[in-house]
This record gives sequence, C-alpha cells and structure tokens, in this order.
Amino acid sequence: MSSAVVFRRLLILPPAIRRHAYSTAVASRPEVYDVVCVGGGPVGLSFVSALQSHNTTRHLKIALVDSQDLSISKSGNDGETYSNRCSSLTPAALRYLKSIGAWNKIESERLQPYHAMDVWDGVSGSKIHFEDQPGTGLVDSLLELVPGNRFQASRTRYETGSTVVATMCENSNLTGALLQRIKELKSEAGSLKVLDKTKVSSIDLGQTPTDETSPDFSQWPLLTTSAGQTLAARLLVGADGANSPVRQFADIPSPGWDYNQHGVVATLNLDRDFSSSELRTAYQRFLPTGPVALLPLPGKKASLVWSTTPQHAAALKSLDSAGFTAAVNAAFRLMPVDINFMLSSSSTSTPESELAWREPATPPSSTGLPASFPRIIGVQEGSQASFPLRLRHASTYTGHRVALIGDAAHSIHPLAGQGLNLGLADAEALAKQMVYGVEHGMDIGSCWCLDGYGSERWGKNNAMLGVVDKLGKLYSAGSGPVVWGRSLGLGLVDRLGVVKSALVGAAAGRG
Ligand SMILES: Cc1cc2nc3c(=O)[nH]c(=O)nc-3n(C[C@H](O)[C@H](O)[C@H](O)COP(=O)(O)OP(=O)(O)OC[C@H]3O[C@@H](n4cnc5c(N)ncnc54)[C@H](O)[C@@H]3O)c2cc1C
Repeated sequence: MSSAVVFRRLLILPPAIRRHAYSTAVASRPEVYDVVCVGGGPVGLSFVSALQSHNTTRHLKIALVDSQDLSISKSGNDGETYSNRCSSLTPAALRYLKSIGAWNKIESERLQPYHAMDVWDGVSGSKIHFEDQPGTGLVDSLLELVPGNRFQASRTRYETGSTVVATMCENSNLTGALLQRIKELKSEAGSLKVLDKTKVSSIDLGQTPTDETSPDFSQWPLLTTSAGQTLAARLLVGADGANSPVRQFADIPSPGWDYNQHGVVATLNLDRDFSSSELRTAYQRFLPTGPVALLPLPGKKASLVWSTTPQHAAALKSLDSAGFTAAVNAAFRLMPVDINFMLSSSSTSTPESELAWREPATPPSSTGLPASFPRIIGVQEGSQASFPLRLRHASTYTGHRVALIGDAAHSIHPLAGQGLNLGLADAEALAKQMVYGVEHGMDIGSCWCLDGYGSERWGKNNAMLGVVDKLGKLYSAGSGPVVWGRSLGLGLVDRLGVVKSALVGAAAGRG
C-alpha cells in the first residue's frame, strides 16, 4: 500500500468515526442498500444508469435520492426556446453516454455540435482558430514516422473520432434522457428505488448494536430523509453538487478559492442560422474582467456564458432586453475600456446608444472580431441568470463507504466548458470500479475497492483544474508584458498545426 493511501485513510477515516460514533440512535430499522446515490443531477443519473446497464452491477440494490422533482427534468420546450443551462459535451462524454444507452434517448433536434472554435484576446486582438480535422496534426505526424507500431492504437482512436469538437446540449435534455434510460432499466432489473422530492436531512454513522441479533451499522452511513426514511448505505455516493452534504459528512476538505466573478448565462437570438453554415463555430473572447463565450444552439440561437465581475453581472441583469442585447454585442465588438464604462455606474446613457456611436469607431481589426461572428438581435425572455464562480477540489474522492463524483468533488471555472465533462468521466470511472469490485468479490464500500477510482480521477481532474485556472489568470491582465507575451504565444500556437491539434484533442476529451 502506498504511503499516500495510508495517509488518506488516516486523514479521512478517523474524524468521520470520531464525529459520528455516538450520534443519536436511529429509531426505525434502516432500509439497507448496496449503493445510495445522493444527487440526481446529470452526474448522479449517469452513474446510476451505468451501474444498471452493466450485467455485473445491475442487480445491486440502489437508491437515488434528490430533493428536486425529477419528473419535470425533461426539457419539454418547443423549438423556439432553449434552457439557459447548457453544456458543451466532449466526444469522450458522448461515447460514455452512448455506452450506457442514454444518448439515443436524447432529443437530438435540440443538440448543436460545433466543429471549430475562435478564441481571441480582448486586449491585443490576437487570435487562434481551432478545427478538429482527423488526418492532420500530431498523431498523424508520428504515425507517418513509425507505421504499424504501438501508435496504431492511437491512430484508430483518432481516426474514428468525429470531427466534432463538442456538442452543445441543454442540461435538462441530458437529465431527461438519463431518466428515461433509468426508467427502462428499472423495469428490467427492478433493483433501483428513485426517491425524488426527498431531501437528505442528515447523515450519521449507525450505533454499535446492544444485542447480538441486531445488525451492526456502526461503520455504515445512515441517511435520514425529509420523508422520514432511514437508509443504510454499503456505499454512499455524493453526486450532490458543490455544497455536497455527503462530502461534509465524510469530513473531506475541499480547498480552493472564489474568482470574484459571476457567470452570466442567457439564451440569445442571432441574425444567422448556425446550423446552415458549413462550419459551426464556438466563439470566446478573453476580456480582463473574464471571458465571454457564444456557443451555438440549433437555428438562430446561441448560449451565452459571460464571466465577469459581480458588479458587471448585477448591471447586466438589471438591463431590459434591448440593453442586454446591446451589452452582449459590445462585449464582442468594443474595446474593454468601453465595455467597462458601459456597465459602470458613471454611464448615464443606455448600452444601445453607447454601442451605436462606439461601434463604427472601433474597427474589427483592432478587437480581433472574427469575420464569421453573428450579430445578437435579442435575448430569450427570462433567460438571464448568474452563478458565482469558484475553484474547489476535494482533497480525496473517497473515504470509508463514501465516494464523491462531479461537482461534489470539484468546481471549475466554466471558461473551458469542462465541469460536467469531468463529472461524467468520474461517474464512468466509479461505475467501472464497482464492476471490478463485484467481479472480485470485494466489499464495494471498502477503501480497497474505492482507491482505484480516486487514483484514476484525482490527478487528471487536478491537472485540468490547474490549467483552466492559469488560463483565466493569464488573460485577466489588461496591459503590460503579459499581454504582449500571451499574444505572441497565441499567434505561435495558431501557426503550429501540431500543437493546435494536441490542444483541440485535449479540449475534446481525448487527452
Ligand atoms: C455558467 C456555467 C456554465 C457551465 N458550462 C459548462 C459546459 O459548457 N460544459 C461542462 O462540462 N460544464 C459546464 N458547467 C459545469 C456544469 O454545469 C456542472 O459541472 C454540472 O452541472 C454538475 O453536475 P452534478 O450532477 O455534479 O451536480 P448538480 O447538477 O449540482 O446536481 C446536484 C444534485 O444534488 C441534489 N442535492 C443536493 N443536496 C441534496 C440533499 N441534501 N438531498 C437531496 N438531494 C440533494 C440537487 O438537488 C441536485 O439535483 C458550467 C457551469 C456554470 C456555472
């Protein structure tokens, strides 16, 4: 056993036991489950689907608990309105969702794949254009040098990969598809209980039994729900989001920092149909206050993710739809100083009038605006919202009879669209670990079984969290040598096909 593993066990296990060993006795005898998954967000639902889809784990007794009404999770909108909570899913995430039989339940007409990304520096205007083209780039260059050797595996993976960089999908469309899949599997396997509209109100360890006939739950998490049930979990999975009650129960620290930024989201109306263009593109401009991204949805729609200061976010949310539309056009078309003034309290004119006179005086060549960039002509009513942005990373993903997945384990800045993708990869890895555990006769809640999951995912997620964090910080400089250096870097990367291919491969989840 490695010293890191020993350390983690010492770190996590004793506090949980000390804290809960003498907790209040649970009145009724608990219902016993192999797995209790708290959280029916996309990550928790995919984990449960993965367990239920696999022959080895489908007969595990599972409870899925969520405080929300999961039956209304389907997107259910018409083709004109789109949810403001969308995610760009990488090809790796799609492969996983296909493998668990959920992707064919998705409302495909509401998806929008994209094939290219235009990213530019809001201060210097330098830019980079990414396209995912199998047949070019790093892997193929290597293969030409060493045909038929160990790189063959990479070649197959690379060539069969699609040219799609990522696919925009409403979170509600994904959870709707996962719920349908769970319903289908539930009628086949019948070992899953979905407890929605049910809040987990407390989690404690059980008591040592006073007589020999009673089961010993002293090392098991016992959950009490708002409906008064008590559930005993051989393995308790926290897919319960950033404020994870499961993580708190297990006493797992989740260090990190706040970005002092809010992510403003909205569904936008465009002057152009993205799906009719040959190459569908996602756009992101780095402003010193944070990146602003326009991500394609079907038809003349797009999803906005504008990371900015809390003051700007509040100003944006207070604007009417014409003002908001003008401010978003300004975010891509004006110089940072003009955008700051437009959203500041010292501005006495409306964003529309500011944009009207400033835009003709700002040539696209000075801001780096790509020629293909559409005009935003409106915002879907009521779709503006904002979320505080922070970085958090749990110091371990596992404890005795506990595992964390998704946002419960990590929160990442949305600038690279990776949060959900990392969470889905966690769910896939934990489900695989469960298969391994069952096949090898292990106690699936034991550290022996769970450690493989933590060691597979923690390092990878930590690397991605670090890269995304540094990227955000690099672009927050508004002037000076950093701006010069990053522009030079961006220009060089744009000219180096090999490096670009490697970067786009990582963004598409092939890293
Ligand atoms: C502005 C923004 C843009 C983003 N864009 C992208 C993107 O493009 N691509 C991407 O990959 N990611 C993106 N993300 C991140 C992504 O949205 C999250 O990583 C993802 O939704 C997390 O899913 P989850 O299932 O882990 O957690 P959640 O979706 O938070 O689900 C947690 C669930 O746990 C339940 N729960 C919590 N406490 C309890 C309790 N006590 N009892 C019962 N149930 C409970 C909640 O009801 C909820 O359903 C973005 C995030 C933001 C803020």
